[in-house]
Amino acid sequence: MKKIGVLTSGGDAPGMNAAIRAVVRTGLSKGMEVMGIYRGYNGLINGDVKNLSVRSVSDVIQHGGTMLYTARCKEFRFEEGLQKAKKTCLEQGIEGIVVIGGDGSFRGAADLSARGIPCVGIPGTIDNDISMSEYTIGYDTAMNTAMDLVDKLRDTSQSHDRCSVVEVMGRNAGYIAVNTGIACGATCVIVPEVPWTIEAVCDKIKRTRETGKHHFIVVVSEGVGNAAEIAKDIEHYTGVESRATILGHVQRGGSPTIRDRVAASQLGYYAVQLLYSGKGNRVVGIQNNKIVDYDIQEALSMKKPFESELYKIADEISF
Ligand code: ADP
Repeated sequence: MKKIGVLTSGGDAPGMNAAIRAVVRTGLSKGMEVMGIYRGYNGLINGDVKNLSVRSVSDVIQHGGTMLYTARCKEFRFEEGLQKAKKTCLEQGIEGIVVIGGDGSFRGAADLSARGIPCVGIPGTIDNDISMSEYTIGYDTAMNTAMDLVDKLRDTSQSHDRCSVVEVMGRNAGYIAVNTGIACGATCVIVPEVPWTIEAVCDKIKRTRETGKHHFIVVVSEGVGNAAEIAKDIEHYTGVESRATILGHVQRGGSPTIRDRVAASQLGYYAVQLLYSGKGNRVVGIQNNKIVDYDIQEALSMKKPFESELYKIADEISF
């Protein structure tokens, strides 16, 4: 390949810039041209692409967000949109594309690969909900942000003898919740993967109160939702004044941690190696600290086990 493209798609995640940088620099060092494609698949459909030089990715590795912007693109789900995207590739001479995003973006990458433009996916999402990879770009930064914010909430909960019910992100996955919960000493963690009842949550708060504790943190995963409702119920059944806080989009921002920067650099490097050797329709990921790659359809059909052991530990050591 002489010319490749790179885009970010779906939800943004800290570390995406580090991945873009690695893709650009690896491509250039192999003698290829690298095109930045703007606002996800929209850029391909609209021809919004720009040549990226070695210096165009200077000073981005430490910044959150994505310098290529990101978006969702409905048109790309249909044949007409895919054909427009393919046309842009042919006109621009783009022979392969690195797609940084989540499962939805990988489905799009598979569709485009099937139409003759080889694509390689890189898992970029704060939610860590990509089955073929133990780790996704942005996850560590998001967890650290959530931890810092819950620590701040704890100060005020402690001062007022309150219960803070905190909703963290994660879409349908409880990874951020269980890790933040254990790191912040939450009394309860509620995740979509584990059945729960308000009675059990309130019983635990009551038992904990009997040991002399007067403030409580309950971490709720986004996939469970209803933090306000849960806070109301806790107050009703335990008599402990309770407040709900939804951390929200602040968890997506900020300077990426070292883990995210390093993982993004490795994955970006490896993705370009695959395209360079003519391989497409692949996703790169991390398993047992090694970079691996899978066929996109195979990757999408994989299942990732929940961190049940960690959940059990979180439950047993917080009372
Ligand atoms: P994520 O990549 O974070 O999972 P989305 O599910 O929103 O985010 O997907 C991002 C974009 O990928 C969509 O806006 C669309 O352009 C494309 N996409 C998602 N699903 C498909 C699909 N089944 N076929 C083609 N493109 C898709």
